[in-house]
Amino acid sequence: MGTILNNFQVMELPIKNNVQIQTSSLWEELGWQPSREQIEQLITLQETLIKLNRNINLTRLLQGNDFWIGQVFDSLWPLKNELKSPAKCRSCIDIGTGCGFPGLAIAIALPGSSIILVDAIKRKTNALKEIASEIGLSKRVCVQTERAEVVGNDVSFRGKFDIAVARAVAEAPVVAEYLVPLLNKEGEALIYRGKWNDSDQQKLKKAIKPLKAKIQTISSKQLPKDRGIRHVIRVATTAPCPKDYPRAVGLPKKKPLGC
Ligand code: SAH
Repeated sequence: MGTILNNFQVMELPIKNNVQIQTSSLWEELGWQPSREQIEQLITLQETLIKLNRNINLTRLLQGNDFWIGQVFDSLWPLKNELKSPAKCRSCIDIGTGCGFPGLAIAIALPGSSIILVDAIKRKTNALKEIASEIGLSKRVCVQTERAEVVGNDVSFRGKFDIAVARAVAEAPVVAEYLVPLLNKEGEALIYRGKWNDSDQQKLKKAIKPLKAKIQTISSKQLPKDRGIRHVIRVATTAPCPKDYPRAVGLPKKKPLGC
C-alpha cells in the first residue's frame, strides 16, 4: 500500500509543483493563494477541456498562459474582494458561460458559492456537465441549457443571485438586460469587457435606467504578459427590476436598451 501511494505521489507531484511555480506570480497579483486541491481542480478543468475540445470545438485558449492567464486569471481578477472571503455563502450565475468561464473558475476559487452556468447551446452545456463532474463540483454547479431572456423571466431564477456574471457575450447594455433581473436586493452584476471608454459608459448608464440599476464601480486591469486591457463594470439595483425586462428572446440584442 505504502509503495503504491509513493509511486502515485512521485508521478503526481511534479505536475502540480510545476503549475504552482508557473502560476505563483499570477496568484500573488490576485492576492489569493489557491490550495493544493484548488490547483488540482484547475488542472483537471484544463485537462478535461483539452480532452473534450478534440471532438467539440469549445475554445482556443487551453494551453499554458492561454489557459492560466486568458481564462483563469481573466475570470478571477474582478473578484479580488470576494477572494478574501472564499467560504462565504454566495449564489452566483454565469450567463453565456460557453466552456465555463468565468463560472467554473469562480466555483473553484470560492468554495462557499453555488453557481448556475447558463448557455443556449446544448453541445456546450453537455460538455459542462461532464467537466463539473470530473472536477467534483456537481453539488455546487448546476448547468442550464437556456436563453438568458428565458432564465431572467423564470421565477426560480429571477431576483435570486448575489453575483451575476457574463464575459464576452454581447455589448454591455445587452448583458445588463440579461443580468440585472437576476439580482437580489444586495446583488451585483459583473459585466466583463475588454476596452472601455466614456461613450460606452454613457450608453450603459442610459440602458440600465429602465432596469432600475446603477453603475457601482468600474475596474480595469492590464493582464499579465501583455495580454491586453480588461474592464469590469459592477452594476447594482436601486429598486426591483420592472417585469418588462428582460424583453423577449432576441430583442435585447436587436434593440439594445438606451439606443
Ligand atoms: N463566457 C464565455 C463564452 C463566451 S462566447 C467566455 O468568456 O469564454 C458567448 C457565449 O454566450 C456562447 O456560448 C453563446 O452560446 C452564449 N450566448 C449568447 N447569447 C446568449 C443568450 N441570449 N442566452 C444564452 N446564451 C447566450
